[in-house]
Amino acid sequence: MKRQASEALFEKAVKLIPGGVNSPVRSCKSVGGRPLFINGAKGAEIVDADGNSYIDYIGSWGPMIVGHNHPQVLAGVEAALSRGMSFGAPTDLEVELAEMVVAAVPSIEMVRMVNSGTEATMSAVRLARGVTGRDVIVKFDGCYHGHADTLLVSAGSGVATQGIPGSPGIPADVIKNTLSLPYNDAKAVTRLFAERGHTIAAVIVEPVVGNMGLVTPAAGFLETLRQETRQHGSLLIFDEVMSGFRVAYGGAQERFGIMPDITCLGKVIGGGMPVGAYGAGKDIMRHIAPEGDIYQAGTLSGNPVAMAAGIACLKLLQQPGVYDELENMSRILITGLKRVADEAGIPVQVDCCGAMLGMFFSDQPVTDFKSAKKSDLDRFAAYYRGMLERGIFLAPSQFEAFFISTAHTRVDIDKTLDAAKAVMAGL
Ligand code: PLP
Repeated sequence: MKRQASEALFEKAVKLIPGGVNSPVRSCKSVGGRPLFINGAKGAEIVDADGNSYIDYIGSWGPMIVGHNHPQVLAGVEAALSRGMSFGAPTDLEVELAEMVVAAVPSIEMVRMVNSGTEATMSAVRLARGVTGRDVIVKFDGCYHGHADTLLVSAGSGVATQGIPGSPGIPADVIKNTLSLPYNDAKAVTRLFAERGHTIAAVIVEPVVGNMGLVTPAAGFLETLRQETRQHGSLLIFDEVMSGFRVAYGGAQERFGIMPDITCLGKVIGGGMPVGAYGAGKDIMRHIAPEGDIYQAGTLSGNPVAMAAGIACLKLLQQPGVYDELENMSRILITGLKRVADEAGIPVQVDCCGAMLGMFFSDQPVTDFKSAKKSDLDRFAAYYRGMLERGIFLAPSQFEAFFISTAHTRVDIDKTLDAAKAVMAGL
């Protein structure tokens, strides 16, 4: 495949932008390559600056669940654009999206829009601390909740890919109140609450983890979080920035029937525009300024163009059968991947949850960050490069999930499996 245009852009970019990328996960360092520069995308297809076309399983890291450039999303955006880009005053579109989110997500009665997932989790933590009057936050190793100081401890996603333990620049004082436990370890949670429950403001968790690769919650894990937090007067925060509207319309809380106190959203609710949100019951949300005294604000929050993209995206997801079909396609894909890996004698662990999928090059079940890290990273890198050469666009890290959209067809899945078969034969 030709790569000259991407290479030339990268040469220029590295001189102007750290690492040539505006988010470290876009770097292909860990898989021994350079990022492709993208020219455009439509449906499940993405095209690079050299005109090479790929089946896209990154989906802009989650938002593009109805595929790229969906005509209805475009129409919504264009209609909003024609009215103006930002007013710094409320619009009908914010109310409409808020109404859709409240109707969809079981635990949310009120919602505040922000501009990214990071803002959502950062604000949710402030809210939890403000409401409880406590400081300690409990998270889980390998979960990524954005790059706010408090939460950048034993994190997944790009932090795991780059092998960074935390980040310089975060004062020890700031993270002394952040405790991280192994994901799926209900006993560790119970032990910690027995010792320090009265100091814990909140537990924040990816109810379905996408940021150490896909790891689903073990039976009883989310229930334990709910029980311990409730018993000790702490709040439970579900970070559904990735799982929201992706593992089910109402997110992981609908799928697993667990009601958190606070929910963080992002990605899908912006339909590809920069959006995040956090929501909770009215009793909690009424603490937020200007109704309450916990401060959080944003110049572009609730931006009308972003709201319009989110509204159009959610409307498409409301059509009957959408999530059954997504789940069905996910299952066909992971079953096929397991089959071609078995045929090639390569041990893999596959799983899916709604439209989130994962494959680890490991011979052991992956249930937490420790077991995820036992994967064969060299083999993943070779697989990634081989798949790219055959027109399959995957996240350039073993510690990321991959995503399908309503635009992916059986033909796309078959092409992907043919590519995987050819690549695995050579691994
Ligand atoms: N929370 C989760 C679960 C995420 O997956 C991400 C990003 O991937 C974030 C928070 C941060 O969102 P953003 O990158 O929009 O700041």
